Amino acid sequence: MAARGRHAWTLEELRQALAAKGVRADFSSVFRATARLETEGALRRVELDDGRTHVEIQDEHHDHFRCELCGEVLAVPCEASGAAMRALEDATGLEIHDHHLVLTGVCQGCRGGSLGRLVVSAAGAAS
Ligand SMILES: [Zn+2]
Ligand SMILES: [Zn+2]
Ligand SMILES: [Zn+2]
Repeated sequence: MAARGRHAWTLEELRQALAAKGVRADFSSVFRATARLETEGALRRVELDDGRTHVEIQDEHHDHFRCELCGEVLAVPCEASGAAMRALEDATGLEIHDHHLVLTGVCQGCRGGSLGRLVVSAAGAAS
């Protein structure tokens, strides 16, 4: 999972990644393995708004960005500072322990695609 350098794996993606490495794993064994690693604190569950379970390696806190076009999930640095959380606690009377933001929009690759075409047509030649 770490080697692939991507975020918020679905169980199906994990199963496919294992299969690509020649590891035969059915869905339920992937499910059991991730559940155990989650209990041990090595993995955390990431809730995105696509209704699927995502898991990833527990590391430094970060938030996520999901591309509306290709569905790619990327890590983004956390913009919700401790000061902002404390201000929110003061304003609401809530005690905030954790958060996870899912930003949505268009990823660099998808933006680059249309920008690239614009550049090509403006220059009148393909690279
Ligand atoms: Zn992540
Ligand atoms: Zn995209
Ligand atoms: Zn955050």
